[in-house]
Amino acid sequence: MNQHHRLDARSPLVLEIHELARRAGTMKEIHRVAEAPADLGIDMIAVPQGSDIVLDLRLESVVEGVLVTGTAEVTLEGECARCLTKFSDEETYDLQELYFYPEREAEEDASRIEDELIDLDPALRDAVVLELPFTPLCRDDCLGLCIECGALLNDDPDHSHGEAIDSRWEKLVALDVRGTEEKDN
Ligand SMILES: [Zn+2]
Ligand SMILES: [Zn+2]
Repeated sequence: MNQHHRLDARSPLVLEIHELARRAGTMKEIHRVAEAPADLGIDMIAVPQGSDIVLDLRLESVVEGVLVTGTAEVTLEGECARCLTKFSDEETYDLQELYFYPEREAEEDASRIEDELIDLDPALRDAVVLELPFTPLCRDDCLGLCIECGALLNDDPDHSHGEAIDSRWEKLVALDVRGTEEKDN
């Protein structure tokens, strides 16, 4: 299952390697700002399409191909899993990927050099998407929402309904407290 599409050298996530090709030991650095592709993320948190990805990369020619290492600095936009507030964040991800020459033997899913170009998109996706939290939080100690009225507790940490409890519930609460005390004894 090899969906072959020709790489577009003008794409910001496609890197040219011809100066490095077949010259093991040579290297070059690439610093560029690329536009984020679509769908870089998961439902709750993602890199917005078209936002800046700051790439700081080192490309080294090795016997098997070209080794790319470096970092990608991205903006993340997410929705807090506790308080449902939208938030944004900056995050830097490490990239490391070996791109094999077409004739080199490698695992089926190994990254390949095609027409002296390499496509950073899949490696970037792996680096970013696999690291994203399934339950993103606006801050580590987010207090979430009041379970009774839905108020944002971050804005009002002392928020309470203590005095407003219905009298019928008060009896139950009292019973429950007694029950706990009896169990303790
Ligand atoms: Zn939150
Ligand atoms: Zn409340």
